[in-house]
Amino acid sequence: MESTIGDRLAAICGVAHVDVGAAVPDDLCHDEALGLDPVRPGAVVRPATTTEVAAVVTVACELGIPLTARGSGTGLSGGSVPVAGGVVVSFERMSAILEIDTANQVAVVEPGVTLAELDAALTPLGLVYPVFPGEQSASLGGNISTNAGGMRAVKYGVTRHHVLGLEAVLGTGEVISTGGKFVKATSGYDLTQLVIGSEGTLALVTRAILRLHPRPEHQATVLAPFPTMDLVAGAVPPVVASGVGPLLVEYIDMISMAGITANAGIDLGIPEDVRAAALAYLVIVLEDHHPERLEEDTEALASQLAELGALDVYVLPDHAGHQLIAAREHAFWASKAAGADDIVDVVVPRASIPTYLTDVGDLAAATGSLVVGCGHAGDGNVHLSVFQSDPDVRHRLVHDILAAGMAHGGAVSGEHGIGTAKLASFTDLEDPVKLDLMRRIKHAFDPAGILNPGKVLTAPRLEGARP
Ligand SMILES: Cc1cc2nc3c(=O)[nH]c(=O)nc-3n(C[C@H](O)[C@H](O)[C@H](O)COP(=O)(O)OP(=O)(O)OC[C@H]3O[C@@H](n4cnc5c(N)ncnc54)[C@H](O)[C@@H]3O)c2cc1C
Repeated sequence: MESTIGDRLAAICGVAHVDVGAAVPDDLCHDEALGLDPVRPGAVVRPATTTEVAAVVTVACELGIPLTARGSGTGLSGGSVPVAGGVVVSFERMSAILEIDTANQVAVVEPGVTLAELDAALTPLGLVYPVFPGEQSASLGGNISTNAGGMRAVKYGVTRHHVLGLEAVLGTGEVISTGGKFVKATSGYDLTQLVIGSEGTLALVTRAILRLHPRPEHQATVLAPFPTMDLVAGAVPPVVASGVGPLLVEYIDMISMAGITANAGIDLGIPEDVRAAALAYLVIVLEDHHPERLEEDTEALASQLAELGALDVYVLPDHAGHQLIAAREHAFWASKAAGADDIVDVVVPRASIPTYLTDVGDLAAATGSLVVGCGHAGDGNVHLSVFQSDPDVRHRLVHDILAAGMAHGGAVSGEHGIGTAKLASFTDLEDPVKLDLMRRIKHAFDPAGILNPGKVLTAPRLEGARP
């Protein structure tokens, strides 16, 4: 198989852009999800154009070989972990910012462009692509395919609110272009939105049109320690409803705060007595084009937080504010360094966070597990680090934590996706009618079932699919 597929891929992309068998770098065998075993693909191919991607898909279709798209491999759900013996389609050579159209405030990018690269290009123009998931080395193709969120979703929404159009290769090798440089369209089904969040199972994204915003120059970071988690969680809805339009609203529990500040080596200067009394923290960032408006809003926010039960309120100097946000973005690495066995990414309605966290505490206590966390409180996205070394107990516990999220009107994943890591719980907890519809949609995009099989849906091979 290896020589056949290797030769066919090399004929399309050039021999220098294909690795086969043992030559495939180890790094391509995993993503950043905790607790998943690496899987070795049969080959990796690095196409440079949409035409090459389409030709790769056509060959894979003909030979019945699974393809797994790969951006930067920073995913947390196993979505870009290859299928054994399949082919990884790496987008590292499709990494051009094709256009920044300032008049229409859009960027046109290839999928391999990283968030950091796009931000560096937009900063001098006073523009921003406002989706900031915690890992800036992630690619736009990966962000689109996981519908990445991040801290700023409370103000700007998530990836799907900023992708205006796509070029993508279907599982048949056909190429489609969707949307355009406009925000409105009522012209048939919205194929752009179907592809977003589909984790490489419906189509390979080869180009994207992204919506940009003016970049506010001024920011203020407010840190409020609270004596109970209930008070923190209860403060979030009134802050969001207050009209100050926070850029981000994060909660960090006491244990996680100690972990992320120690991991980043920062001292926020909180007096010992306040630290001793604080069980959780709220971090809120405001932004504005006008410094005087920002100051007014910051003062109003500080008074509101004090009324809502904060032990104290600190407006951090810019440097400390940026350090804290960067440390929070890297909370995953702190959890990993502390030995977390799993990471949960549930979303619930933000007003349900207090009762949801009470349920999680009960589940953790009943199994003798440690479950701590922080999260994008403004949009209800709760990230939990689960410490439970017994795999059977842990799998049951994580499943119950996800089920509790669903029972609170939430969803199994807020932003990391299903991949393989949450597949069993997703297919167990989700409405079977919806799952069946998703399988039929998958079949329409990818009739041979070659695009990232075994991710998102445990799709049995459909009638008419190749063996
Ligand atoms: C420290 C850290 C913090 C993080 N914080 C956040 C956060 O706050 N919010 C958040 O949402 N995520 C977060 N993540 C997860 C991760 O960064 C995102 O999921 C990101 O979108 C993945 O991008 P990637 O390029 O690494 O994709 P990969 O991991 O390479 O792939 C992810 C999925 O997209 C598919 N894919 C990739 N490229 C394409 C393409 N061109 N066409 C079709 N499918 C494709 C893959 O097959 C896979 O299913 C974090 C990760 C880390 C390590």
